[in-house]
Amino acid sequence: MRDAFDACLKCTLCVSQCPVMSVNPDFPGPKALGPEWYRQNQAQMTAPLPHVDDCTFCQICESVCPVDVPIAHLIAEQKAEKKHSLRVWLRDEILARPQWVARMAWLGAIPEPMRRLGKISPGVQLPKPRKGQVRTLGEPLGADPRRIGLFVDCYSSGYDQELVMRARELLRIWGFSVTLVPGEAQCCGAAAYAAGNPGLAKSTGHAMFRTLNRKKSDYDVIVTLNATCDGTLRDEWPEFYGLQITVPVIPFDEIANQAPELFWEQLASLPAEPGAWITHTTCRGKVARGDGQLWELAKRAGFWDAEPSDAVCCGAGGSYAFKAEHESTAEQLAFRVREQALSSEAKGIITDSGTCAIHMEQAASIPARHPAYWLYARYLRYLEEGETHETKTS
Ligand code: SF4
Ligand code: SF4
Repeated sequence: MRDAFDACLKCTLCVSQCPVMSVNPDFPGPKALGPEWYRQNQAQMTAPLPHVDDCTFCQICESVCPVDVPIAHLIAEQKAEKKHSLRVWLRDEILARPQWVARMAWLGAIPEPMRRLGKISPGVQLPKPRKGQVRTLGEPLGADPRRIGLFVDCYSSGYDQELVMRARELLRIWGFSVTLVPGEAQCCGAAAYAAGNPGLAKSTGHAMFRTLNRKKSDYDVIVTLNATCDGTLRDEWPEFYGLQITVPVIPFDEIANQAPELFWEQLASLPAEPGAWITHTTCRGKVARGDGQLWELAKRAGFWDAEPSDAVCCGAGGSYAFKAEHESTAEQLAFRVREQALSSEAKGIITDSGTCAIHMEQAASIPARHPAYWLYARYLRYLEEGETHETKTS
């Protein structure tokens, strides 16, 4: 890994793909902030460069680098060396621990004076927690011997219990037994790394790893709701945290594709979901698995007029969009989704991250929800139409 730090060929491929460079002319870009800073720093302990914090940690630069320079991770190391005022430091310490924010979800919207004092962006509002009632979907359609540990990310744990219940109910009728892991708001470390705190990311990740190990007699497979957590457990933990998870980790959209055929046949008997839809995979999900899986799932579920999002990175970036100094960049990154939604008159966004969902929902003014939310809604419609038909014929 350390060889790769110094392997830059100066090809500038990373520069051509960086989404922040395309909207923020002050941003020095991945080559200058990553390998070039690393080389200079090795020689003379260079101070962090201006605008290093403007990197969203989307990792698109890393995905195109022909010699695997861990560019975004080098930038995160550099961010960690930057000195901040006390109030910015305090804000960043809190936002790098989304499990704390999730546990305070009941507090609701951030009061204006606290928002100004804490330099929280006026462009992003925390939503009211969605508790929601979830109706049972009936008898299981199959039986799968694998016991699933449903990995609930911090955001969903605090703000979207309705999603957690919908996902759990879907897994149940697909024939799985399900346990929620970790079972309370706890973070995998992704948010702290993105915020430029690799030390905290690693200690947070190690704590989560211990929790998962303690519960490992309860599950055979981990199914992740959030694509960023998924990439963290599968790719980041072994490479950057020194952690190797021993059970298979499967993202929700992949396990949905393994649902009993009967489920898919029943959904296919419904008319297509009307209108246009946008699918949006998180940056880390895109880097790890491409953009197509979510889109294919949407089509299979009946969202026939779905198109992948035009935004490479929507600007949510963990806690990035919550920081006042990133308001303009985050807005410009989400602007593409807004334009796409307006031109196609999209009805909604299907996305595998709660924080991308908050940011895009506010930017595009249409609902943005996890695929499990929409799949559950489609299946409920199938059941209700069947019940209506039975009532009419009896
Ligand atoms: S991680 Fe994303 S925003 Fe940061 S330098 Fe790389 S491509 Fe640009
Ligand atoms: S893509 Fe990799 S090799 Fe090319 S300039 Fe960027 S860091 Fe250097």
